[in-house]
Amino acid sequence: MKLHDLGEFGLIHRFAPRFTKYLPLGIEGIGDDCAIIPSSPSKAMLVTTDLLIENIHFLKSKISPHDLGYKSLAVNTSDIAAMGGTPQHAFLSLGLTPNTPISWIDSFFDGIQELATSEGIYLLGGDTTRSSNDLIINITLIGDIETAKIKRRSQAVVGEVIFCTGYLGDSAAGLRVLLDNLPAEESTKYLIEAHHRPRPHTKEGQWLSEQASVHAMIDVSDGIDSDLLRIMEQSDCGAHVELSDLPLSNHFKQVCDTYGWNAWDLATAGGEDYCLLATAASEDFPQLTANFLQTFGRPLFPIGHITTASNKLQYTLEKRPINLSKKGFDHFR
Ligand code: ADP
Ligand code: MG
Repeated sequence: MKLHDLGEFGLIHRFAPRFTKYLPLGIEGIGDDCAIIPSSPSKAMLVTTDLLIENIHFLKSKISPHDLGYKSLAVNTSDIAAMGGTPQHAFLSLGLTPNTPISWIDSFFDGIQELATSEGIYLLGGDTTRSSNDLIINITLIGDIETAKIKRRSQAVVGEVIFCTGYLGDSAAGLRVLLDNLPAEESTKYLIEAHHRPRPHTKEGQWLSEQASVHAMIDVSDGIDSDLLRIMEQSDCGAHVELSDLPLSNHFKQVCDTYGWNAWDLATAGGEDYCLLATAASEDFPQLTANFLQTFGRPLFPIGHITTASNKLQYTLEKRPINLSKKGFDHFR
């Protein structure tokens, strides 16, 4: 058997039990957006790390160093947001080729600093090494949260509404715009911006963490097709998603129409939206979204329901069952 047979998540499932079986009381690791390490009787540290490799996660010719710095920290911040926490302390490791222009590195750090400043994150350390070919970026981010407010992937309950906090598909469409070298106009520029400068939903995550009616939560990094599977396996449930309910931006719809792209594939399997995907009891949802609207000036977007595990992940379009051709992102499949 080779790694591509097992897949990214098959691999994690294979080694994780050895390390998670005998964890000390209160410590949780491998399986959620962050590890949880109690720091006082009522508070916990949240820890997450993400690796970005040139030509796998980004193309240096397509993204500015400033945006790359910004995005590297944003994807980690999003994992803290996914648990409802406050990001605080970052560690940055870089593998760089010796011929990298200093002006490029300065701009990369400008991008890191931009998001660090707006999120109140302090860069406290890291490591810097030579890389033979590709640029390698790893950030570890530590946040904190009151233990009682932590939202996990494992808390979804059958019958609950599944909702997200932002548009789906913009980032994936932005990547496609870049790869296809499409002409710059208002819509394509908006989609590229969504791909290069994802806004972590930190405030939204903190707000949702304070709502007892919100149960499971995750950030949308691999596409809802994959991220819902993570909720399903951790909560032992299934899910039903109505495609006509997916929140799609007008720019996204326009570009999909113009170029004949499959909007459903991009919105479910494209990934890197970095909004939050969560569940809440259906009777609580109307009040929840009304309060969210009052706080953030936009509603929560309901996209489906949690079902029993035997139903797996089911899509409908205008209530008719439909099979999608693309699966959420997996590094090895
Ligand atoms: P995310 O997309 O939120 O960063 P993933 O779904 O990719 O998280 O990862 C699932 C879980 O597996 C996370 O808890 C992550 O920390 C853990 N994990 C992934 N790779 C490794 C690894 N090489 N060693 C230990 N834990 C890992
Ligand atoms: Mg995540």
